[in-house]
Amino acid sequence: MASEEKKILIVEDEKTIRDAVAAYLERDGYIVRGVGDGQSALEEFEKHSFDLIVLDLMLPKLSGERVCRAIRETSNVPIIMLTAKGEVEDRIIGLELGADDYLIKPFSPRELVARVRALLRRAHTEAEPQLEVLDFGDLVIDISGHKVLVEGKEVDLTASEFKLLTTLARYPGRVYTRMELVEKVLGYDFEGYERTIDSHVKNLRAKLGDDPRHPRWLYTVHGVGYRFEASQKPSEGSDAKASKK
Ligand code: CA
Repeated sequence: MASEEKKILIVEDEKTIRDAVAAYLERDGYIVRGVGDGQSALEEFEKHSFDLIVLDLMLPKLSGERVCRAIRETSNVPIIMLTAKGEVEDRIIGLELGADDYLIKPFSPRELVARVRALLRRAHTEAEPQLEVLDFGDLVIDISGHKVLVEGKEVDLTASEFKLLTTLARYPGRVYTRMELVEKVLGYDFEGYERTIDSHVKNLRAKLGDDPRHPRWLYTVHGVGYRFEASQKPSEGSDAKASKK
């Protein structure tokens, strides 16, 4: 089976949703563990390793927001946030906390399964050795090692942020529309998710220390999308990596 025994943690207090989602994921070959509150989620997370987490935002005991924050302190595991309809701010908050994707309730379990697959495929592709380093001097993107260094200091990026940065940095100067970035970064083609990209760019800028008013790397192209630019031309290849360490 394509899912290769991947383990998924579902954190959702509404039992009917939790059970339905679990059933669909299990049918797709995943090993699923479900809990109903934020406290149990963190306990499960500490005890077992998961390949992906589906996290509801409104939870008893400990909110999804706090759970996400706690997990992100130690892990870049892919997180899909579940939010109630109309909670636009909450969606954005979820992404700013470092969730990789979100779904608005009510959602179809089938769509959730598709998102899970896309996110795991992405994480898997990134793990494959490619021996590629993009060296812009102050900014070094080690694609094979899944590492980003700003002035020699490693910056911790989520899977989506890393994908976004590498997509832009591979072709400095090329302008990407938000929709293109949604497809490339999130792995699906769906209208209405352009704001997701804005949130990821915002997080990425904060982590890289890139001021949007005086950008070093990430430039906003108004009304269109984003482009990457660096003062130094990239030197690419495994030599760059070898010379770094
Ligand atoms: Ca809930």
